[in-house]
Amino acid sequence: MDPIGVDVAGQKSRFGIYVHVPFCTSICSYCDFVKTSQFDRLDADIFFESALLQLRFLLSTSFSSTFQGEVRNSCTLYFGGGTPGLFPAERFVAIISEVSRYFDIEECTIETNPALTTAKRFREFREVGFNRVTIGAQTLCSKTLRTFARRHCPEQALESVSDARNAGFSQAQVDIIYGLNSGERTTRLEWEVAEFVKAGATGVSGYALSLEERTKLFSSKIVSDDQAAHEYSVLRKACLDLGMRQNETSNFSFYEAKHNNIYWYGWPYIAVGTGAHGLLPSSTEAPFGMRYSVGDVPSERAPGDDDLPYKKKANELFEIKWESPRTELDFFGEMVFTLLRTPNGIPWNWLKEIGCPNVEYVWKTDAKVVRAASDSRLEIAGLGLRLLENEFLLGDSWALHLLTIADQVMRDRSKIDRCFP
Ligand code: SF4
Repeated sequence: MDPIGVDVAGQKSRFGIYVHVPFCTSICSYCDFVKTSQFDRLDADIFFESALLQLRFLLSTSFSSTFQGEVRNSCTLYFGGGTPGLFPAERFVAIISEVSRYFDIEECTIETNPALTTAKRFREFREVGFNRVTIGAQTLCSKTLRTFARRHCPEQALESVSDARNAGFSQAQVDIIYGLNSGERTTRLEWEVAEFVKAGATGVSGYALSLEERTKLFSSKIVSDDQAAHEYSVLRKACLDLGMRQNETSNFSFYEAKHNNIYWYGWPYIAVGTGAHGLLPSSTEAPFGMRYSVGDVPSERAPGDDDLPYKKKANELFEIKWESPRTELDFFGEMVFTLLRTPNGIPWNWLKEIGCPNVEYVWKTDAKVVRAASDSRLEIAGLGLRLLENEFLLGDSWALHLLTIADQVMRDRSKIDRCFP
């Protein structure tokens, strides 16, 4: 058991490192991530050098005195984006080596897209230390791939998965988008999941399509909330029927998702690269950790705008913006949101551990909670409060409700600082 009372089997890491690589070869019509397709070799040079410097700064300067005890010498490393897999393996060596100076890297993940990473490059990724890949397959429906302005076809998505496995990756997670209006997707989700698994996929991350204002598809009418709820349950069932575990609301795999666990279970992580967000470990000044973001990313981007002016503004793009130290209420609120997304839910033991055992009583006697429990939409009779089946999709509104009714108890409690010793 770890400090939050959740047993995450077999995971040593209680600390993560995330590198956001914001480069893509083209821009997908639904994407609202921080990314650009307007870059050249010099931009990439600047990015990887700046990311390494930022990593050194955060590791050796800010953290050296707080590493002992909390970090336990093991970490996860995750290159996301963007599309880090479009770069050759040698681009990542310096950062992986730097992290290795401090930690045993338990899980080392790279994100890539089908058709961008060849079988040879997958082998090279393995050779420099990656042991897990996530592939932005999105769907096996050609029509939907065209709507999304993806550059690959269904066959390439499957080939990419098998190439990764043949190169020696024991884990290949695929992203699948759902929630399109009926008629948009011409394939069945459960068939897609089965095909990916046949090709060697070891897990599926589901993403309900949600179109932000600055995406090219924003004004289209292709999203449906009802369809999203239906397809979520289809996707979940298909994954569980194939023997995967549910790691989190939308993450299914034959394995633990160790880096993601860092976020879901509230452990600290540092993040580098434009658009990244980090959570520093606890310190004397910030006993509940401190959040920060990297880069002065324009918030008012036009639809499809992908321009991050790397050459001119490297300093601004790597500027660290510190938030105020987290309070114990911030900590509690964030944990309620993320724990509810896990199949373990919020353990009663954890409430005791942080000095709030009365919250258990308040939640267990709340009319809305009692009704949902009697409808088998959530469970309160076991080790904690956990959501069931499709109720996972309402996790955020449940978190808000639970926090509202716990508010008075939380404000009265004396201390919850034992969870950050
Ligand atoms: S969805 Fe992925 S590949 Fe497409 S533009 Fe966004 S970050 Fe790039």
